[in-house]
Amino acid sequence: MENNVFLRDSKKLKLADYMRAQENGRENLGSELPVAVYRLLEYSLREELEERFGKEEQIRIFRNAGYKAGVYFAQKYLDSSLEMSEFTAQLQKRLEEFKIGVLRIEKFDEDTGRAVLTVSEDADCSGLPLLGETVCNYDEGFLSGILTSYTGRNYTATEVNCWATGDRVCRFRADIDG
Ligand SMILES: [Zn+2]
Repeated sequence: MENNVFLRDSKKLKLADYMRAQENGRENLGSELPVAVYRLLEYSLREELEERFGKEEQIRIFRNAGYKAGVYFAQKYLDSSLEMSEFTAQLQKRLEEFKIGVLRIEKFDEDTGRAVLTVSEDADCSGLPLLGETVCNYDEGFLSGILTSYTGRNYTATEVNCWATGDRVCRFRADIDG
């Protein structure tokens, strides 16, 4: 395929290009998919990456991919010119519209920027059995990307509670690095 004369000059597509391409490709089936399909992709990919590269690298890949998705999501679907409370209200609304989960801001410290967020009915993990570890590494990156994009500061979100650790919500601590 690399030698195909018609493809020779085609540019390498980035995330935003692929996202644009899906916008009107499914006239009959529409834009929604069951959670089962999302999890099939997520957990098969997770398993494959872990087998090939080990667990730590798999987690890093999920976090980094989630981060890219979060930055994209913020730029495409959120208005970063809104002040904090309006921005979080919009974020809650969008996460529900996209059926990603139900977001609550549990704590926010204006001085340090530290936030504690919970997501219930999370698309990645709700209903999972007890595994003794948090599994929403993609969401960690996703939230980091959104907060970093909005604030211009380097945010890192870490999941501290999860369905997979026996909780009913996923809880993330978000801090500004450095
Ligand atoms: Zn979780």
